Amino acid sequence: MKKVAIIGAGASGLICSIVCAKNSCKVDLYEQNQNIGKKILVSGNGRCNITNTSFSEDDYFSQNNSFVKDALERFNYQKFEKFCASIGLVLDAKEDGKVYPLSNEAKSVVAIFKDTALNLGVNIITDTKISDIKSLMDKYDAVVVATGSEAASHLGGCADGLEFAKVYGHSIIPTYPSLVQLELSNSPHNKMSGTKVDGEVTLMINNQKSSSASGDILFTAYGVSGFAILDISREASEAMLNYSVVDIILNLLPKYSHQKLSNHLNNLNKSIPESSILNALHALLPLKISKTILDVLNISHETKLQNLNMKDYKRIANQCLNWKFEVASTHGFRHAEVAGGGVNTDEIDAKTMESKKQKSLYFTGEVLDVVGRRGGYNFAWGWASGYAAAIGISSK
Ligand SMILES: Cc1cc2nc3c(=O)[nH]c(=O)nc-3n(C[C@H](O)[C@H](O)[C@H](O)COP(=O)(O)OP(=O)(O)OC[C@H]3O[C@@H](n4cnc5c(N)ncnc54)[C@H](O)[C@@H]3O)c2cc1C
Repeated sequence: MKKVAIIGAGASGLICSIVCAKNSCKVDLYEQNQNIGKKILVSGNGRCNITNTSFSEDDYFSQNNSFVKDALERFNYQKFEKFCASIGLVLDAKEDGKVYPLSNEAKSVVAIFKDTALNLGVNIITDTKISDIKSLMDKYDAVVVATGSEAASHLGGCADGLEFAKVYGHSIIPTYPSLVQLELSNSPHNKMSGTKVDGEVTLMINNQKSSSASGDILFTAYGVSGFAILDISREASEAMLNYSVVDIILNLLPKYSHQKLSNHLNNLNKSIPESSILNALHALLPLKISKTILDVLNISHETKLQNLNMKDYKRIANQCLNWKFEVASTHGFRHAEVAGGGVNTDEIDAKTMESKKQKSLYFTGEVLDVVGRRGGYNFAWGWASGYAAAIGISSK
Protein backbone atom coordinates (compact mmCIF):
# COMPACT_ATOMS: atom_id res chain seq x y z
CA MET A 1 0.00 0.00 0.00
CA LYS A 2 1.48 3.36 -1.07
CA LYS A 3 2.03 5.85 1.74
CA VAL A 4 1.16 9.41 0.74
CA ALA A 5 1.65 12.66 2.68
CA ILE A 6 -0.35 15.69 1.62
CA ILE A 7 0.61 19.08 3.05
CA GLY A 8 -2.44 21.37 3.19
CA ALA A 9 -6.10 20.51 3.68
CA GLY A 10 -7.52 23.10 1.30
CA ALA A 11 -9.36 22.43 -1.95
CA SER A 12 -6.58 20.66 -3.84
CA GLY A 13 -5.25 18.72 -0.84
CA LEU A 14 -8.69 17.48 0.15
CA ILE A 15 -9.65 16.15 -3.26
CA CYS A 16 -6.20 14.63 -3.69
CA SER A 17 -6.55 12.82 -0.36
CA ILE A 18 -9.95 11.39 -1.31
CA VAL A 19 -8.91 10.18 -4.76
CA CYS A 20 -5.65 8.69 -3.40
CA ALA A 21 -7.57 6.89 -0.65
CA LYS A 22 -10.15 5.61 -3.15
CA ASN A 23 -7.21 4.17 -5.07
CA SER A 24 -5.95 2.23 -2.08
CA CYS A 25 -3.26 4.61 -0.85
CA LYS A 26 -2.67 5.21 2.84
CA VAL A 27 -2.97 8.97 3.22
CA ASP A 28 -1.81 11.38 5.93
CA LEU A 29 -3.26 14.86 5.34
CA TYR A 30 -1.40 17.57 7.29
CA GLU A 31 -2.99 20.94 8.07
CA GLN A 32 -1.42 23.76 10.06
CA ASN A 33 -4.80 25.24 11.06
CA GLN A 34 -7.04 23.83 13.74
CA ASN A 35 -9.73 23.30 11.09
CA ILE A 36 -9.51 22.23 7.47
CA GLY A 37 -10.73 24.11 4.37
CA LYS A 38 -10.72 27.61 5.84
CA LYS A 39 -10.64 29.33 2.43
CA ILE A 40 -13.47 27.13 1.19
CA LEU A 41 -15.56 28.20 4.19
CA VAL A 42 -15.28 31.92 3.43
CA SER A 43 -15.38 31.60 -0.36
CA GLY A 44 -18.12 33.22 -2.39
CA ASN A 45 -19.22 35.16 0.70
CA GLY A 46 -19.90 31.92 2.54
CA ARG A 47 -21.71 30.36 -0.43
CA CYS A 48 -18.64 28.89 -2.18
CA ASN A 49 -18.48 29.49 -5.90
CA ILE A 50 -17.15 25.96 -6.17
CA THR A 51 -16.42 25.87 -9.92
CA ASN A 52 -17.66 27.04 -13.30
CA THR A 53 -19.58 25.04 -15.91
CA SER A 54 -16.98 25.89 -18.51
CA PHE A 55 -13.27 26.52 -18.19
CA SER A 56 -10.17 26.33 -20.35
CA GLU A 57 -6.60 27.63 -20.33
CA ASP A 58 -8.02 31.01 -21.45
CA ASP A 59 -9.40 31.53 -17.94
CA TYR A 60 -5.95 31.26 -16.32
CA PHE A 61 -2.72 33.23 -16.22
CA SER A 62 0.70 31.66 -15.97
CA GLN A 63 4.10 32.08 -17.62
CA ASN A 64 3.33 28.77 -19.27
CA ASN A 65 -0.31 29.11 -20.30
CA SER A 66 -0.82 25.69 -21.82
CA PHE A 67 0.24 23.96 -18.59
CA VAL A 68 -3.31 23.81 -17.15
CA LYS A 69 -4.94 22.40 -20.32
CA ASP A 70 -4.48 18.69 -19.74
CA ALA A 71 -5.58 18.61 -16.09
CA LEU A 72 -8.59 20.85 -16.74
CA GLU A 73 -9.73 18.71 -19.67
CA ARG A 74 -9.32 15.47 -17.74
CA PHE A 75 -11.31 16.80 -14.80
CA ASN A 76 -13.82 19.02 -16.60
CA TYR A 77 -17.10 20.23 -15.12
CA GLN A 78 -19.00 17.04 -16.00
CA LYS A 79 -16.37 14.91 -14.27
CA PHE A 80 -16.30 17.19 -11.24
CA GLU A 81 -20.10 17.13 -10.98
CA LYS A 82 -20.03 13.34 -11.15
CA PHE A 83 -17.37 13.23 -8.46
CA CYS A 84 -19.44 15.54 -6.24
CA ALA A 85 -22.55 13.40 -6.79
CA SER A 86 -20.52 10.34 -5.76
CA ILE A 87 -19.74 11.92 -2.39
CA GLY A 88 -23.27 13.29 -1.92
CA LEU A 89 -22.61 16.93 -2.79
CA VAL A 90 -25.35 18.44 -4.98
CA LEU A 91 -24.38 21.36 -7.21
CA ASP A 92 -26.39 24.29 -8.50
CA ALA A 93 -25.17 25.73 -11.81
CA LYS A 94 -26.31 29.30 -12.43
CA GLU A 95 -27.04 30.80 -15.85
CA ASP A 96 -23.79 32.77 -15.85
CA GLY A 97 -21.81 29.53 -15.42
CA LYS A 98 -20.97 29.98 -11.74
CA VAL A 99 -21.63 26.86 -9.69
CA TYR A 100 -22.51 26.71 -5.98
CA PRO A 101 -23.50 23.90 -3.64
CA LEU A 102 -27.31 23.63 -3.74
CA SER A 103 -27.29 24.17 0.03
CA ASN A 104 -25.85 27.64 -0.71
CA GLU A 105 -23.55 27.06 2.24
CA ALA A 106 -19.79 26.63 1.92
CA LYS A 107 -19.75 24.70 5.16
CA SER A 108 -21.67 21.86 3.49
CA VAL A 109 -18.74 21.50 1.05
CA VAL A 110 -16.14 21.24 3.80
CA ALA A 111 -18.31 18.91 5.89
CA ILE A 112 -18.91 16.52 2.97
CA PHE A 113 -15.28 16.50 1.82
CA LYS A 114 -14.11 15.93 5.39
CA ASP A 115 -16.59 13.11 6.03
CA THR A 116 -15.69 11.41 2.76
CA ALA A 117 -11.97 11.60 3.50
CA LEU A 118 -12.40 10.23 7.02
CA ASN A 119 -14.69 7.41 5.85
CA LEU A 120 -12.05 6.38 3.30
CA GLY A 121 -9.46 6.18 6.05
CA VAL A 122 -7.60 9.44 5.40
CA ASN A 123 -5.70 10.41 8.53
CA ILE A 124 -6.37 14.16 8.93
CA ILE A 125 -3.71 15.69 11.16
CA THR A 126 -4.61 19.28 12.06
CA ASP A 127 -2.69 21.87 14.09
CA THR A 128 0.48 20.56 12.47
CA LYS A 129 2.69 22.84 10.43
CA ILE A 130 5.18 21.00 8.24
CA SER A 131 8.52 22.74 8.11
CA ASP A 132 10.89 19.99 6.99
CA ILE A 133 9.87 18.55 3.63
CA LYS A 134 12.94 16.32 3.41
CA SER A 135 11.93 14.26 6.43
CA LEU A 136 8.49 13.68 4.86
CA MET A 137 10.10 12.64 1.59
CA ASP A 138 12.11 10.04 3.53
CA LYS A 139 9.04 8.59 5.25
CA TYR A 140 6.48 8.47 2.41
CA ASP A 141 6.26 7.03 -1.10
CA ALA A 142 4.83 10.34 -2.37
CA VAL A 143 4.52 13.86 -0.95
CA VAL A 144 2.02 16.41 -2.27
CA VAL A 145 2.60 20.11 -1.62
CA ALA A 146 -0.93 21.56 -1.55
CA THR A 147 -0.09 24.54 0.61
CA GLY A 148 -1.82 27.26 -1.45
CA SER A 149 -0.54 30.79 -1.85
CA GLU A 150 0.30 33.79 0.33
CA ALA A 151 -3.19 35.22 -0.18
CA ALA A 152 -5.31 35.66 2.99
CA SER A 153 -2.71 34.95 5.70
CA HIS A 154 -5.43 34.94 8.40
CA LEU A 155 -6.85 31.81 6.73
CA GLY A 156 -3.52 30.01 6.42
CA GLY A 157 -2.11 31.74 3.34
CA CYS A 158 1.67 31.48 3.37
CA ALA A 159 4.74 30.89 1.20
CA ASP A 160 5.75 27.55 2.76
CA GLY A 161 5.15 25.65 -0.48
CA LEU A 162 7.52 27.94 -2.36
CA GLU A 163 10.22 27.28 0.25
CA PHE A 164 9.65 23.50 -0.11
CA ALA A 165 9.99 23.85 -3.88
CA LYS A 166 13.28 25.76 -3.53
CA VAL A 167 14.74 22.89 -1.45
CA TYR A 168 14.54 20.77 -4.60
CA GLY A 169 15.93 23.44 -6.92
CA HIS A 170 12.65 24.75 -8.34
CA SER A 171 12.50 28.30 -9.63
CA ILE A 172 9.74 30.60 -8.44
CA ILE A 173 7.85 33.04 -10.65
CA PRO A 174 7.52 36.24 -8.51
CA THR A 175 4.21 36.27 -6.66
CA TYR A 176 1.68 39.11 -6.48
CA PRO A 177 -1.78 39.57 -4.94
CA SER A 178 -4.71 39.03 -7.29
CA LEU A 179 -8.50 39.44 -7.01
CA VAL A 180 -7.67 42.21 -4.60
CA GLN A 181 -8.81 45.74 -3.77
CA LEU A 182 -6.74 48.71 -4.97
CA GLU A 183 -5.27 51.48 -2.85
CA LEU A 184 -5.39 54.93 -4.46
CA SER A 185 -2.88 57.75 -4.17
CA ASN A 186 -3.89 60.98 -2.45
CA SER A 187 -7.25 61.67 -3.96
CA PRO A 188 -10.76 62.37 -2.72
CA HIS A 189 -11.81 58.69 -2.69
CA ASN A 190 -11.90 58.66 1.13
CA LYS A 191 -14.62 61.33 1.09
CA MET A 192 -16.79 58.84 -0.81
CA SER A 193 -16.00 55.90 1.47
CA GLY A 194 -18.88 53.45 1.81
CA THR A 195 -20.64 54.41 -1.42
CA LYS A 196 -21.18 52.00 -4.26
CA VAL A 197 -22.13 52.36 -7.92
CA ASP A 198 -22.72 49.99 -10.80
CA GLY A 199 -20.05 51.37 -13.08
CA GLU A 200 -17.18 50.65 -15.44
CA VAL A 201 -13.47 50.69 -14.75
CA THR A 202 -10.73 51.04 -17.35
CA LEU A 203 -7.23 49.99 -16.38
CA MET A 204 -4.42 52.16 -17.73
CA ILE A 205 -0.87 50.81 -17.67
CA ASN A 206 1.81 53.36 -18.52
CA ASN A 207 -0.99 55.57 -19.88
CA GLN A 208 -2.18 52.88 -22.31
CA LYS A 209 -5.62 51.29 -22.03
CA SER A 210 -5.06 47.74 -20.85
CA SER A 211 -8.48 46.28 -19.99
CA SER A 212 -11.87 47.19 -18.61
CA ALA A 213 -14.60 45.64 -16.48
CA SER A 214 -18.08 46.55 -15.35
CA GLY A 215 -20.01 45.91 -12.16
CA ASP A 216 -19.85 47.04 -8.55
CA ILE A 217 -17.36 49.77 -7.68
CA LEU A 218 -17.13 50.49 -3.97
CA PHE A 219 -15.20 53.47 -2.58
CA THR A 220 -13.37 52.80 0.68
CA ALA A 221 -11.09 54.74 3.01
CA TYR A 222 -8.01 53.26 1.29
CA GLY A 223 -9.21 53.19 -2.32
CA VAL A 224 -11.63 51.05 -4.30
CA SER A 225 -13.15 47.60 -4.06
CA GLY A 226 -16.05 45.75 -5.72
CA PHE A 227 -16.34 43.12 -8.44
CA ALA A 228 -15.30 45.42 -11.31
CA ILE A 229 -12.13 46.35 -9.40
CA LEU A 230 -11.31 42.72 -8.52
CA ASP A 231 -11.68 41.81 -12.19
CA ILE A 232 -8.92 44.20 -13.31
CA SER A 233 -6.79 43.74 -10.19
CA ARG A 234 -4.63 40.88 -11.46
CA GLU A 235 -3.34 42.91 -14.39
CA ALA A 236 -2.90 46.00 -12.21
CA SER A 237 -1.01 44.04 -9.57
CA GLU A 238 1.28 42.32 -12.07
CA ALA A 239 1.99 45.67 -13.75
CA MET A 240 2.96 47.24 -10.41
CA LEU A 241 5.27 44.29 -9.73
CA ASN A 242 7.04 45.37 -12.93
CA TYR A 243 7.17 49.04 -11.79
CA SER A 244 4.64 50.25 -14.37
CA VAL A 245 2.52 53.35 -13.76
CA VAL A 246 -1.04 52.23 -13.07
CA ASP A 247 -4.17 54.39 -13.20
CA ILE A 248 -7.85 53.61 -13.34
CA ILE A 249 -10.55 55.59 -15.09
CA LEU A 250 -14.00 55.25 -13.57
CA ASN A 251 -17.26 55.67 -15.41
CA LEU A 252 -19.82 56.09 -12.66
CA LEU A 253 -22.82 56.38 -15.00
CA PRO A 254 -22.30 53.93 -17.87
CA LYS A 255 -25.91 54.29 -18.99
CA TYR A 256 -25.11 57.84 -20.11
CA SER A 257 -22.91 59.20 -22.89
CA HIS A 258 -21.18 62.58 -22.40
CA GLN A 259 -23.73 64.15 -24.71
CA LYS A 260 -26.72 62.53 -23.02
CA LEU A 261 -25.58 63.52 -19.52
CA SER A 262 -24.76 67.14 -20.32
CA ASN A 263 -28.05 67.45 -22.25
CA HIS A 264 -29.90 65.98 -19.27
CA LEU A 265 -28.44 68.64 -16.94
CA ASN A 266 -29.10 71.38 -19.47
CA ASN A 267 -32.73 70.26 -19.83
CA LEU A 268 -33.16 70.41 -16.05
CA ASN A 269 -31.78 73.94 -16.18
CA LYS A 270 -34.68 74.81 -18.48
CA SER A 271 -37.38 72.97 -16.52
CA ILE A 272 -36.24 73.57 -12.90
CA PRO A 273 -33.70 76.43 -13.05
CA GLU A 274 -34.02 77.20 -9.32
CA SER A 275 -32.88 73.69 -8.30
CA SER A 276 -29.35 73.11 -7.03
CA ILE A 277 -26.75 71.27 -9.05
CA LEU A 278 -26.20 69.02 -6.03
CA ASN A 279 -29.80 67.82 -6.14
CA ALA A 280 -29.55 67.27 -9.88
CA LEU A 281 -26.46 65.11 -9.44
CA HIS A 282 -27.79 63.34 -6.36
CA ALA A 283 -30.70 62.15 -8.50
CA LEU A 284 -28.10 60.14 -10.43
CA LEU A 285 -25.39 59.25 -7.91
CA PRO A 286 -24.96 58.75 -4.15
CA LEU A 287 -24.76 62.00 -2.19
CA LYS A 288 -21.12 61.65 -1.10
CA ILE A 289 -20.05 61.07 -4.70
CA SER A 290 -22.13 63.98 -5.99
CA LYS A 291 -20.61 66.34 -3.42
CA THR A 292 -17.07 65.18 -4.15
CA ILE A 293 -17.51 65.65 -7.91
CA LEU A 294 -18.59 69.24 -7.34
CA ASP A 295 -15.72 69.82 -4.88
CA VAL A 296 -13.19 68.54 -7.39
CA LEU A 297 -14.62 70.92 -10.01
CA ASN A 298 -14.78 73.83 -7.53
CA ILE A 299 -18.52 74.23 -7.97
CA SER A 300 -20.48 75.15 -4.85
CA HIS A 301 -23.10 72.53 -3.93
CA GLU A 302 -25.90 75.08 -3.75
CA THR A 303 -25.28 76.62 -7.17
CA LYS A 304 -28.58 76.93 -9.00
CA LEU A 305 -28.81 75.20 -12.34
CA GLN A 306 -29.65 78.52 -14.02
CA ASN A 307 -26.24 79.85 -12.94
CA LEU A 308 -24.36 77.13 -14.82
CA ASN A 309 -23.91 76.81 -18.58
CA MET A 310 -23.36 74.02 -21.09
CA LYS A 311 -19.58 74.22 -20.58
CA ASP A 312 -20.07 73.52 -16.86
CA TYR A 313 -22.43 70.64 -17.60
CA LYS A 314 -19.85 69.12 -19.95
CA ARG A 315 -17.17 69.36 -17.24
CA ILE A 316 -19.51 67.67 -14.75
CA ALA A 317 -20.38 64.95 -17.28
CA ASN A 318 -16.69 64.34 -17.93
CA GLN A 319 -16.00 63.99 -14.22
CA CYS A 320 -18.82 61.43 -13.85
CA LEU A 321 -17.85 59.37 -16.88
CA ASN A 322 -14.09 59.76 -17.03
CA TRP A 323 -12.66 60.12 -13.54
CA LYS A 324 -8.98 59.22 -13.37
CA PHE A 325 -7.34 57.93 -10.18
CA GLU A 326 -3.71 57.01 -9.64
CA VAL A 327 -3.26 53.53 -8.14
CA ALA A 328 -0.69 53.47 -5.33
CA SER A 329 -0.68 49.72 -4.65
CA THR A 330 -2.94 46.75 -4.15
CA HIS A 331 -4.50 46.20 -0.73
CA GLY A 332 -1.92 43.43 -0.22
CA PHE A 333 -1.76 39.65 0.07
CA ARG A 334 -3.71 39.67 3.31
CA HIS A 335 -6.84 40.95 1.57
CA ALA A 336 -6.34 39.14 -1.74
CA GLU A 337 -8.40 36.09 -2.70
CA VAL A 338 -5.58 34.53 -4.68
CA ALA A 339 -1.98 35.11 -5.77
CA GLY A 340 -0.35 35.14 -9.18
CA GLY A 341 3.10 33.60 -9.67
CA GLY A 342 4.39 30.56 -7.79
CA VAL A 343 6.30 27.38 -8.58
CA ASN A 344 7.48 27.50 -12.20
CA THR A 345 5.19 25.13 -14.12
CA ASP A 346 7.89 24.39 -16.73
CA GLU A 347 9.42 22.22 -14.01
CA ILE A 348 6.20 20.25 -13.31
CA ASP A 349 4.68 17.38 -15.32
CA ALA A 350 1.36 18.77 -16.58
CA LYS A 351 -0.32 15.33 -16.55
CA THR A 352 0.59 14.24 -13.02
CA MET A 353 1.73 17.43 -11.22
CA GLU A 354 4.95 15.59 -10.34
CA SER A 355 8.14 17.62 -10.00
CA LYS A 356 10.54 17.16 -12.90
CA LYS A 357 13.35 17.85 -10.43
CA GLN A 358 12.42 15.40 -7.68
CA LYS A 359 10.63 12.08 -8.17
CA SER A 360 7.57 11.44 -5.93
CA LEU A 361 7.18 15.14 -5.09
CA TYR A 362 3.95 16.74 -6.35
CA PHE A 363 2.57 20.30 -6.38
CA THR A 364 -1.14 21.12 -6.66
CA GLY A 365 -3.40 24.19 -6.60
CA GLU A 366 -2.39 27.75 -6.03
CA VAL A 367 1.20 27.07 -4.96
CA LEU A 368 1.87 26.66 -8.68
CA ASP A 369 2.25 29.61 -11.04
CA VAL A 370 -1.43 29.42 -12.04
CA VAL A 371 -4.08 31.99 -11.17
CA GLY A 372 -7.63 32.09 -12.47
CA ARG A 373 -10.27 34.70 -13.17
CA ARG A 374 -13.06 35.35 -10.70
CA GLY A 375 -16.04 32.99 -11.11
CA GLY A 376 -15.09 29.61 -9.64
CA TYR A 377 -11.97 29.16 -11.79
CA ASN A 378 -9.50 29.07 -8.91
CA PHE A 379 -11.30 26.21 -7.20
CA ALA A 380 -11.66 24.50 -10.58
CA TRP A 381 -7.85 24.52 -10.81
CA GLY A 382 -7.55 23.25 -7.23
CA TRP A 383 -9.87 20.30 -7.94
CA ALA A 384 -8.34 19.48 -11.35
CA SER A 385 -4.71 19.62 -10.20
CA GLY A 386 -5.43 17.71 -6.98
CA TYR A 387 -7.22 15.04 -9.00
CA ALA A 388 -4.37 14.85 -11.54
CA ALA A 389 -1.78 14.35 -8.79
CA ALA A 390 -3.86 11.63 -7.12
CA ILE A 391 -4.24 9.72 -10.39
CA GLY A 392 -0.53 10.23 -11.07
CA ILE A 393 0.44 8.86 -7.66
CA SER A 394 -1.93 5.91 -7.60
CA SER A 395 -1.26 4.76 -11.15
CA LYS A 396 2.53 4.82 -10.73
C1 LIG B 1 -11.96 35.33 0.75
C2 LIG B 1 -11.74 34.35 -0.37
C3 LIG B 1 -12.79 34.00 -1.20
C4 LIG B 1 -12.60 33.12 -2.26
N1 LIG B 1 -13.66 32.77 -3.04
C5 LIG B 1 -13.49 31.91 -4.07
C6 LIG B 1 -14.59 31.47 -4.85
O1 LIG B 1 -15.75 31.77 -4.54
N2 LIG B 1 -14.33 30.66 -5.92
C7 LIG B 1 -13.05 30.26 -6.25
O2 LIG B 1 -12.88 29.53 -7.23
N3 LIG B 1 -12.01 30.61 -5.48
C8 LIG B 1 -12.19 31.42 -4.41
N4 LIG B 1 -11.12 31.75 -3.62
C9 LIG B 1 -9.79 31.20 -3.96
C10 LIG B 1 -9.68 29.75 -3.46
O3 LIG B 1 -10.02 29.73 -2.09
C11 LIG B 1 -8.25 29.24 -3.66
O4 LIG B 1 -7.86 29.38 -4.98
C12 LIG B 1 -8.16 27.75 -3.27
O5 LIG B 1 -8.56 27.59 -1.94
C13 LIG B 1 -6.74 27.24 -3.45
O6 LIG B 1 -6.71 25.89 -3.07
P1 LIG B 1 -5.33 25.23 -2.59
O7 LIG B 1 -5.65 23.84 -2.27
O8 LIG B 1 -4.28 25.50 -3.57
O9 LIG B 1 -4.91 26.06 -1.28
P2 LIG B 1 -5.71 26.43 0.04
O10 LIG B 1 -7.16 26.19 -0.11
O11 LIG B 1 -5.23 27.77 0.41
O12 LIG B 1 -5.17 25.36 1.09
C14 LIG B 1 -3.84 25.33 1.50
C15 LIG B 1 -3.82 24.78 2.91
O13 LIG B 1 -2.48 24.46 3.26
C16 LIG B 1 -2.27 24.81 4.61
N5 LIG B 1 -0.82 24.95 4.80
C17 LIG B 1 0.01 25.86 4.23
N6 LIG B 1 1.28 25.64 4.62
C18 LIG B 1 1.26 24.58 5.45
C19 LIG B 1 2.27 23.87 6.18
N7 LIG B 1 3.55 24.24 6.12
N8 LIG B 1 1.90 22.81 6.94
C20 LIG B 1 0.59 22.42 7.03
N9 LIG B 1 -0.40 23.07 6.37
C21 LIG B 1 -0.07 24.12 5.58
C22 LIG B 1 -3.05 26.11 4.77
O14 LIG B 1 -3.35 26.36 6.12
C23 LIG B 1 -4.30 25.81 3.94
O15 LIG B 1 -5.33 25.25 4.69
C24 LIG B 1 -11.31 32.59 -2.52
C25 LIG B 1 -10.24 32.90 -1.65
C26 LIG B 1 -10.46 33.76 -0.59
C27 LIG B 1 -9.30 34.08 0.33
